[in-house]
Amino acid sequence: MEKKERDDDRTALIFLGTGCSAAVPHFRCLLQPSDPPCHVCSQSLTLLPHLNPNYRCNTSLLIDYCCEEEDGRHYYMIIDVGKSFREQVVRWFTFYKIPRIDSIILTHEHADAIHGLDDIRSLQPRGSAIDTNPLPVFLSQFTMESISTRFPYLVEKKVKEVPRRVSQLDWRIIEENCDKPFTSSGLSFTPLPVMHGEDYVALGFLFGNKSKVAYISDVSRIPPSTEYAISKAGAGQLDLLILDTNVPSMRGRQPTHLCLPETLEIIKRLCPKRALLTGMTHYFDHHEYNEILAEWSLRTSGTGSCNRRIGKGRRGLHYRPLDLADCREARGGLGEEEESGGKSGSGGSGGRGGMEPSPAVKRDGDRAEALLEGNQGFAMHCSLTTRSFKGLRRPRFGNNDEALAIAETMHGLRHLQLFGNKLSNTGLSAILDNCPNLEHLDLRQCFNVNLVGDLEKRCSERIKVVRHPNDSTHDYPFDATVIDMDSDEEDKLNCYDFDNYDYDMYIDI
Ligand SMILES: [Zn+2]
Ligand SMILES: [Zn+2]
Repeated sequence: MEKKERDDDRTALIFLGTGCSAAVPHFRCLLQPSDPPCHVCSQSLTLLPHLNPNYRCNTSLLIDYCCEEEDGRHYYMIIDVGKSFREQVVRWFTFYKIPRIDSIILTHEHADAIHGLDDIRSLQPRGSAIDTNPLPVFLSQFTMESISTRFPYLVEKKVKEVPRRVSQLDWRIIEENCDKPFTSSGLSFTPLPVMHGEDYVALGFLFGNKSKVAYISDVSRIPPSTEYAISKAGAGQLDLLILDTNVPSMRGRQPTHLCLPETLEIIKRLCPKRALLTGMTHYFDHHEYNEILAEWSLRTSGTGSCNRRIGKGRRGLHYRPLDLADCREARGGLGEEEESGGKSGSGGSGGRGGMEPSPAVKRDGDRAEALLEGNQGFAMHCSLTTRSFKGLRRPRFGNNDEALAIAETMHGLRHLQLFGNKLSNTGLSAILDNCPNLEHLDLRQCFNVNLVGDLEKRCSERIKVVRHPNDSTHDYPFDATVIDMDSDEEDKLNCYDFDNYDYDMYIDI
């Protein structure tokens, strides 16, 4: 697999797993297939995991925290180490060049959150089992007691006659209380107690000083006190909400998890700038549900206060709200945080007026990043690409929706990759008109763009690096196959995934 370059000055959130406890594919769908077979699970028989967005490990998030106070030193925190932890390390730690873990935070004590604890020893230096630096693990008292029973060898510090190598862990109890934050590897976390079934409390976490991120992976109901803690009135508007969604409909709903309609209701109530969904079973097809969520976002934004239109009132001209926060709004949030010391009460002020919620189901290995450049606010990198996009030599369909949306909402954009996009010169002109800070523009395989004359001149004069539509794709990390439409094979159209994009987002935590 091709490795990405690591950026040294950015904080990143890496989705190590976005699946349910049984993970996806489900064993039974492979061993005793139904008729017709399960479409989502069957893909694992034909696609390699890193090319298959429907391949999902246990839910887990890695926070690659770049600490400004320590000259950009990186800390690596992981939320939950479940049954598929080893596989996640092999796949994504190597891919993103994560060298170690500095601390672990546990949401609860179910197998899909803790059964990887044993494998932590493989990340720790060898030596006498007793003198290895123990790794901090933040967990509730209830989770601690359960682990003590199930993994006594990880908890008891008995000196054995014949020493055996086990994970060296430093257990740190946190309270299930929104008012009792704790600090892990230099970053403050607020515990968010939620119901995971009505007889069980699991924890989510709120973190980020400049942008607020709430991560709630195992939840059936959010109690009012917790909802207040992450609401506009409590913590201010969330920049990013990462939320559980287990099955697509109320039918077949598990009493221990949210289903999609419940998840969307919560997103509507909390109105984060962006929402990403995780914890999915095999009932979710990644592409299909991202389309459904894009439509939902459009409908929701059409009824909300942050309605955005192009044109005059024609319903059909609403554009799809993007998953990215506007730079100016992000700067507003930064200022508020600095002035108020990161505390509450600023939700109503203008800078955080906000984007409409625009949820997407995430795939394993996806990354959201942060970058802050001096005092100039956020440098946002917008990447509209798909992992499996195939460019068209002679595209039949032009579409400037995304380009116009970018032009209207992202005036502070510096880096923009529109690989294989269907925009035309009209869309590109709008971006040049409205994004004066653009420094890097990648238009490879955007074959509707004809970069000549005045447009070419504007690009080359204004933008430091321009990648042209026909430029080499050798350094593009995903499938960049170009299919020549002269071959007139209609069925090839079926393999194009015109409207499915993955986004990289840069927010500063
Ligand atoms: Zn299945
Ligand atoms: Zn659970």
